[in-house]
Amino acid sequence: MKYVVVSGGVISGIGKGVIASSTGLLFKTLGLRVTSIKIDPYMNIDAGTMSPLEHGECFVLNDGGEVDLDLGNYERYLNITLTRNHNITTGKIYSQVIEKERKGDYLGKTVQVVPHLTNAIQEWIERVAKIPVDDTGLEPEVCIIELGGTVGDIESAPFVEALRQFQFRVGTENFALIHVSLVPVIHGEQKTKPTQAAIKDLRSLGLTPDMIACRCQDVLEVATIEKIGMFCHVGPQQVIAVHDVNSTYHVPLLLKQQKMMKYLTKKLAIGDIDATALAR
Ligand code: ADP
Repeated sequence: MKYVVVSGGVISGIGKGVIASSTGLLFKTLGLRVTSIKIDPYMNIDAGTMSPLEHGECFVLNDGGEVDLDLGNYERYLNITLTRNHNITTGKIYSQVIEKERKGDYLGKTVQVVPHLTNAIQEWIERVAKIPVDDTGLEPEVCIIELGGTVGDIESAPFVEALRQFQFRVGTENFALIHVSLVPVIHGEQKTKPTQAAIKDLRSLGLTPDMIACRCQDVLEVATIEKIGMFCHVGPQQVIAVHDVNSTYHVPLLLKQQKMMKYLTKKLAIGDIDATALAR
């Protein structure tokens, strides 16, 4: 199983869900079976009790699970059917750990965020990633994990730590990270400082970006891409520009044009993919 984590920096609502779905779609065009997991670091068990005025409409899955709208994006982009367990929230993880504690499963140990909660998160991801989600009924080969919120928030800290450990648990050749950042345009100039700060935060938590997806109102200038590459210690091919488009269904094409799969398949040691599929 190959895991691709999509996290975000600077501000929320910059298009992580769309980039995660689009990346999944590109893996699917290579002939791979793709699934997805959405992590929402809030205390609610699910989105069913949250005000639509604050959170937007919730999406109802086939099994009745009331979840974040992003899972609807995944189902539409990837033509898959997800379950309520494909949405992990802080509320769900804590209740599972507390229930185990009450049963005495921890054998008298002090139950802590690290390692008990972080282990529970990693086990949950591994278990749910294996659930068949498409018509083939076979185990998926790629799992896209979207981490809601922004890295550095108190809320997402246990998930960030769990993912930091997870890259070694599954092997670095099975783990890739796409960090979505914002490039604001101030007086006509594309500003890279927020992205530099976001990547610094990410690295300080032990995560290294394989790709930096930059959301910007305009097409990114070559100089901006080079500057981000240099200051964020990645190659220019690892910087992906995602400007505002009329329809978010254009985003997979944007990623494809920038040869995102070429880098990711190499990083994830995905063999058996013929060159024509990659060029497609
Ligand atoms: P996040 O997952 O970071 O909260 P979403 O993927 O839900 O963000 O996107 C937030 C909003 O921005 C959505 O309404 C989405 O349609 C819109 N959006 C995302 N990417 C783009 C884009 N490249 N161009 C225009 N609108 C976009």
